[in-house]
Amino acid sequence: MRRPLVAGNWKMNGSRSANQALMHDVAAQVAALDSVDVAVCPPFVYLEQVSSLVGSAIALGAQDLSDQDEGAHTGEVSGAMLKDLGCQYVIVGHSERRTLYGEDDAFTARKFAAARRHGLKPILCVGELLEEREQDITEKVVARQLDAVLDLEGVEAFRDAVVAYEPVWAIGTGRTATPDQAQAVHAFIRERLAGHDASVAAGVQILYGGSVKADNAVELFNQADIDGGLIGGASLKAADFLAICKAA
Ligand code: 13P
Repeated sequence: MRRPLVAGNWKMNGSRSANQALMHDVAAQVAALDSVDVAVCPPFVYLEQVSSLVGSAIALGAQDLSDQDEGAHTGEVSGAMLKDLGCQYVIVGHSERRTLYGEDDAFTARKFAAARRHGLKPILCVGELLEEREQDITEKVVARQLDAVLDLEGVEAFRDAVVAYEPVWAIGTGRTATPDQAQAVHAFIRERLAGHDASVAAGVQILYGGSVKADNAVELFNQADIDGGLIGGASLKAADFLAICKAA
């Protein structure tokens, strides 16, 4: 049976005092939940601070990493550095990286590979734009995004990876995919992986992301192929994030 995972993606939010207050309210209560894995992904500059606040029940993740390992790459942060700070997870291919910063499928696959080289668990984000859903090419887009990683790293890599389906039109918009819409794409992702290896597909956690809130989390997480969530805005509010963790 797959264990659910709820990961908070803080995006470019937070401050030393806000992080302190949020983790103060969340850490002890998450420690009391034993049937869900929980992670938080703060901005790079706060990873060290947050690592001292998470306690043992919350894992630390980063929001991005370099595809390179070290050297003359001004402004970049390597997988080795993230590992050094205690990260277990790193998000790769978030739609904001893809759409706002031009990161394509091949680049995302190289970041996924870099994460694995440094013993980090990549959370690979996939998902279609609104116009792609309207053109009925959601599966084609998600397949292309997945295949870029499968081609470079092979299916075995997904034994130590997480997939997050985040329809771009649902991110930060308050417009959530319906549980049926999300489940259909999650099942498609699992089938596509099963085409390579059934046991990898059965074991991989597939998270849903996009306007997950305390009041829609239960219904989403009840779907057969939804194994938790990647939470943006609601992960910044202690009560909301805790409610979502409890729903998983
Ligand atoms: P929201 O939960 O704010 O819609 O963001 C989702 C997301 O992009 C998580 O990575």
